[in-house]
Amino acid sequence: PIYHQAKFINSAPRLQDAPPDQGMEIAFAGRSNAGKSSAINTLVQQTALARVSKTPGRTQLLNFFEIDAQRKLVDLPGYGYAKVPVAVKRDWQKMMENYLKNRQALCGIVLVMDIRHPMTEFDWQMVEWCEHTGQPLHILLTKADKLKFGAAKNTLLAVQRELGRSSITVTLQLFSALNKTGVEDIHQLLDEWFGF
Ligand code: GDP
Repeated sequence: PIYHQAKFINSAPRLQDAPPDQGMEIAFAGRSNAGKSSAINTLVQQTALARVSKTPGRTQLLNFFEIDAQRKLVDLPGYGYAKVPVAVKRDWQKMMENYLKNRQALCGIVLVMDIRHPMTEFDWQMVEWCEHTGQPLHILLTKADKLKFGAAKNTLLAVQRELGRSSITVTLQLFSALNKTGVEDIHQLLDEWFGF
């Protein structure tokens, strides 16, 4: 695939600062520390495209990466630190809702979860937003290397069951940035959503 061509475009503190709303965009979401940056870096086969940002309460940015003239990946800001002030959380929610509801180019959400802590409050919020906007949702259960294969598979099935109640179609897979587990699956999913 051509995902290794991914190039950084810009970091947008607000939606107004985003690149023009055209072509197709796939957005990556995940609670802080879930492993989102590592997952993006792994699937584009670059070591430092998505920077690892770990300062609680710091400015939340939408990071845009170009695959080709018509296709972008977006790294959405995560939160999840207990100490994030209410005002920061509220701004984050506003920006995320605005982006998810109004971005015409958006064609799917990849939600990254640490397989040892799946379906946090953050993750349910994302599922609910996708239910409201009708966005296709794909879940990466990452750090799968932290569990034995049987336990990882059981977690996958449990999350699948939990999401059975949801009104949208959700696909999910195991992933590991360490072992490169599931890289082909995520490439196939992106190919499908991007219409390759
Ligand atoms: P982000 O905050 O969601 O972008 O998370 P990062 O990608 O920065 O990862 C958070 C921590 O988890 C870092 O210490 C990573 O090295 C570690 N990590 C990320 N992905 C994996 C993985 O697949 N396996 C293992 N064992 N550790 C991982």
